[in-house]
Amino acid sequence: MLDSSRGQVGKHGVASAASEVSDKRLSAADYLPAELTLESLRTAASKCEGCDLYVRATQTVFGSGPAPAALMFIGEAPGEKEDDAGQPFVGPAGKLLDDAFTAAGINRNEVYLTNTVKHFKWEPVGKRRLHAKPNSREISACQPWLLAEIQTVAPKLIVCLGATAAQSLLGHKFRITRQRGQLLALPNGQQVLSTWHPSSILRTPDADARQRMQEELFLDLRAAATFARE
Ligand code: SF4
Repeated sequence: MLDSSRGQVGKHGVASAASEVSDKRLSAADYLPAELTLESLRTAASKCEGCDLYVRATQTVFGSGPAPAALMFIGEAPGEKEDDAGQPFVGPAGKLLDDAFTAAGINRNEVYLTNTVKHFKWEPVGKRRLHAKPNSREISACQPWLLAEIQTVAPKLIVCLGATAAQSLLGHKFRITRQRGQLLALPNGQQVLSTWHPSSILRTPDADARQRMQEELFLDLRAAATFARE
């Protein structure tokens, strides 16, 4: 859940950069710059060793887009293509997200895209690097970057793509199957809407279920676009 214990409540109600780590282990909080701009955050995050994920990843994949932005999209973690490119949502999931943006009338250049965790986590399967889900320690260690991005981008609406992003802000009781498409508020008033992660749609084996999830993603993004315009 959004962890305000890691810092002060700032202008938009999210933790400030001057946060304290509650345990002795490192986290992204140890690497936050004094000044919060996207440029300073991106530069600082490129050197982050706040958890072990940096060791086997190619590079930090920080968020992309303008600040401020009315809409901010948060996924789970970079995939292999994102790890290679250093940009979020450039692989197959990014292609589906682009289709959903087009269907919803959202200009990708006008929104901010990021992930809950900024380094690619993977397991070797033969010669391939297979995506692995970040654990709660890694999500917590990386949260200072996400909170700093939210504070800097100051979105009117956050769209969580998938359960990992939604649970990191809304808590572990959040269920994407039950609460997808609902407009929810964080304690600080920040509006959040959650929908399917494009990767989970692409991984769904049943064609009918995949079609339904895709329609729901498009529907949710249209609702997000309408909310951002009002
Ligand atoms: S995943 Fe996050 S906390 Fe861990 S090393 Fe990468 S940027 Fe730092």
